[in-house]
Amino acid sequence: MSDPAQTLEQLRQALGDDAVVTGTNISQRHYSDWTGHAPACPAALLLPRTTAHVASALRICNAARQPVVPQGGMTGLAGGAVPRASDIALSLERLRGIEELDPAAATVSVLAGTPLEDIQQAALNAGFVFPLDLGARGSCQIGGNIATNAGGNAVIRYGMTRDLVLGLEVVLADGRVLDLRNKMIKNNCGYDLKQCFIGSEGTLGVITRAVLKLAPQPGPTSTLLCALPDYASAVSLLRRIQRSVGTPQAYELMWQDFFRLGVSWLENPTAPMSLDYPLYVLLESAVPGEPLETLLEQAFADGEVLDAVLAGSQAQARGLWKIREATAEFPLRMTPLNFDVSLPIGLIGDFVERCRTRLEQHWPGNHSVYFGHIGDSNLHLTVDCTSLPQPAPILDIEELVYSAVGELGGSVSAEHGIGLLKREFLHHSVGPEALAVMHQLKDCLDPNGILNPGKIFV
Ligand SMILES: Cc1cc2nc3c(=O)[nH]c(=O)nc-3n(C[C@H](O)[C@H](O)[C@H](O)COP(=O)(O)OP(=O)(O)OC[C@H]3O[C@@H](n4cnc5c(N)ncnc54)[C@H](O)[C@@H]3O)c2cc1C
Repeated sequence: MSDPAQTLEQLRQALGDDAVVTGTNISQRHYSDWTGHAPACPAALLLPRTTAHVASALRICNAARQPVVPQGGMTGLAGGAVPRASDIALSLERLRGIEELDPAAATVSVLAGTPLEDIQQAALNAGFVFPLDLGARGSCQIGGNIATNAGGNAVIRYGMTRDLVLGLEVVLADGRVLDLRNKMIKNNCGYDLKQCFIGSEGTLGVITRAVLKLAPQPGPTSTLLCALPDYASAVSLLRRIQRSVGTPQAYELMWQDFFRLGVSWLENPTAPMSLDYPLYVLLESAVPGEPLETLLEQAFADGEVLDAVLAGSQAQARGLWKIREATAEFPLRMTPLNFDVSLPIGLIGDFVERCRTRLEQHWPGNHSVYFGHIGDSNLHLTVDCTSLPQPAPILDIEELVYSAVGELGGSVSAEHGIGLLKREFLHHSVGPEALAVMHQLKDCLDPNGILNPGKIFV
C-alpha cells in the first residue's frame, strides 16, 4: 500500500477538499450499519458528486492498493457497509436525484444515492408505483438496495430488486465506467453484465446510476386474516388464491407463538380470533371482498381454513397488520437473534419443526418465534437470547439453524445479504465449485482486491 497521506492528497486534488473528510469530522453514522456491528472510524470518508469523481477516486485507490468500502444509507442488516479503521469509506449520498421519468417506457432513471422513498414518490406523482418497499425506505439508497438485491414487502407480486432493474452505470475498481443503462424489457446482447453487480454488496463495482422498471398503480386492496390447520394448508390456500383471483400483494404466515406475541403487544390486546390455531395468514389482495368470500367458502368446505376475518375498513386492516408488525418491537422487548433464510416453499413447515425440535433439545425452554413471507419462500426465525443460558451461545445457534437450512437445500440469506455476518455460513448454501467461480469473478473485476475486502468471503 502507498503512503496513505499521499493517497489522501491525490484524492483531495481530484475530488476537492470538501469531498474528502477525515478524523472527527466523519459522522459516526459512517462507522457501522444498522446492525451496529464492529463500528470503526474509517481512514477517510469520500463524498463524490459525480460518476467522474467516483472513477477518479477508485483509480487513485486502486493504484495505491487502498481498500474502499462503498456506503449507501447504512441501513444494511449484514454488516456489508461497515469499514475497518484502515479503509476509506465512499458514500454515494451526494450522487442523488431523479434524472428522468419516461412514462412511455415506464422507467425511471436515477442516481445511486437517491433514497428509495424519493423514487417511490416520483413514481406516484407520475401515476405509477415503484414497487420496491421496505421499512428503511426513508434512509436506504437505491444503490444500496441494488447492491444487496433487497427484497421487502411486495416481492410476491413484483419480485426482488433484481427484477426491477433494467440498467446500471457501474464504476469498476480500476476506475473504468461501465455504461449498462437500458430501458428495454427485451435485450439479449451477450452476457447481461448488470446482473453481476446486483447483490454483489459493493465487492465488484460501485453503482452510480440505475434505470428502474415502474408498474401501474394497483387499485384498493382487501385485507384478510385466516386461521389454518397446518402448513400444507398455507401452501394450498396460496395456490388456490393465485388460481382464482391472482397473486396476492402480501401473504404473511405467522406461527401460533408469533401470533400470540403480536396480539399481546397490541395497545389494546384484543385478538381478532382465537389464539389457539396452529397458523395464521395475513393476506392482501387487489380483488374486492366478494370473490374472496366465495373463495373462502370453498376453502372452509375443504378444511383448509378454520376461521377468517375480512377487514371491513382501512382501520380494521391496519389493526390486523399491527399484529404482523410486532417485529418492530423485538429490539425493545427481547434480545433478538434474527434469521432471514429461504427454503423451497413446500419444505418450510418441515424446517420449522426441525429447528424447533433441535433448539429445544439443546436449550430446553428457549423462546423462538417463526413468521415469514412464505409466498417468496422466505422465513424469519427469531430466538430471544434472554431465554438462553448466558452468555448466549450465538454461534452454536447460528450453526444449528444454518446447517438445517443447508440440509434442506435452502439459502442462509433470503434478502439481507452475506456481508460480514454470514460469511462463515455461506458454504451451507453455496458449493465449493460455485464459491471458486465467485472468487474468480472477484479477481477478474477487482484484481487488487480493493473493493469492500472481507465482505461475503471469509
Ligand atoms: C427497518 C429496516 C427494515 C428493513 N427491511 C428490509 C426488507 O424488508 N428487505 C430487505 O431486503 N432489507 C431490509 N432491510 C435492510 C436494508 O434496508 C437493505 O439491505 C437496503 O437495501 C440497504 O440499503 P442501504 O442504502 O442502506 O445500503 P448500505 O447499508 O449502506 O450498504 C449495503 C451494502 O451495499 C453496498 N453498497 C451501498 N451502496 C452501494 C453502491 N452505490 N454501489 C455498490 N455497493 C453499494 C455496501 O458496500 C454494503 O455492502 C431493512 C433495514 C431496516 C433498518
